[in-house]
Amino acid sequence: MNKPYQRPAADEPAWWFIVAGGEIILERGESLPPHGILNQIPMPDLSDYKVVYLGELRERNCYLILADYGDTQFAELGEFGNVREILLQGDEELFAVAARAKQFTEFLLTHRFCGRCGTRMQAVDWELAMHCHSCQHRCYPRISPCIIVAIRKGNQVLLARGKRHPEGLFSVLAGFVESGETLEQTLAREVMEEAGVEIKNIEYISSQSWPFPHSLMIGFIAEWEAGEIHLDPFELEEGDWFPIDALPRVPPQGTIAYKLIDSLKRKIEQETTGED
Ligand SMILES: [Zn+2]
Repeated sequence: MNKPYQRPAADEPAWWFIVAGGEIILERGESLPPHGILNQIPMPDLSDYKVVYLGELRERNCYLILADYGDTQFAELGEFGNVREILLQGDEELFAVAARAKQFTEFLLTHRFCGRCGTRMQAVDWELAMHCHSCQHRCYPRISPCIIVAIRKGNQVLLARGKRHPEGLFSVLAGFVESGETLEQTLAREVMEEAGVEIKNIEYISSQSWPFPHSLMIGFIAEWEAGEIHLDPFELEEGDWFPIDALPRVPPQGTIAYKLIDSLKRKIEQETTGED
């Protein structure tokens, strides 16, 4: 088994995930992380950088390189950009590894000292964890579960625009799971808090790692049960029931929000066809 801090060989073909300041190096034009044989690409000397083995993607090893914010050493390989760009290329597998790279970086940078006793922590060499040799406290990368849900009422879907979303872009509801909650309780609470409605017939669809900074989006569809829409004015700017065949601008393909809206759409279409 590969260890987290194994160094890449000079003749090794690999994917290179170079992360700094929450951004990742993307090749110009393609918006993909650099890939290729180490000694055949314009990679700087890596001996001064922390390198983390991330796993395999399509039979190639993947490495995270922790760069410094504003580091110009990698300029020949590409430029720093948002991890989201990879998703917009439609490559969900590649996005998942980039998400892992971004989350590991966040983890390593925020766990340099022990949260219990304040001693400097050391990286464990056989698994991705930080360990305190003073009090034996061990930390693993933090993952924050979040529910995300597309709610239907007849052939309409509930969409809302968050305060931070651009004008005209509507999405489904989402929220963090709180300590002690089941996913079912989070769904009921978040939907009530954000939109003031009750839901039923919850159905799990899929999940997606969402590295902003370390969420795991757990996606559902559900049906409206009761209540008029009352939006939470602190979280949401606007929102309504939209006919499934006349949607406003929604998140792009590749995102779990898109997938949920799409599965609701298929479900409604199937029902309509079944009735004919
Ligand atoms: Zn400690």
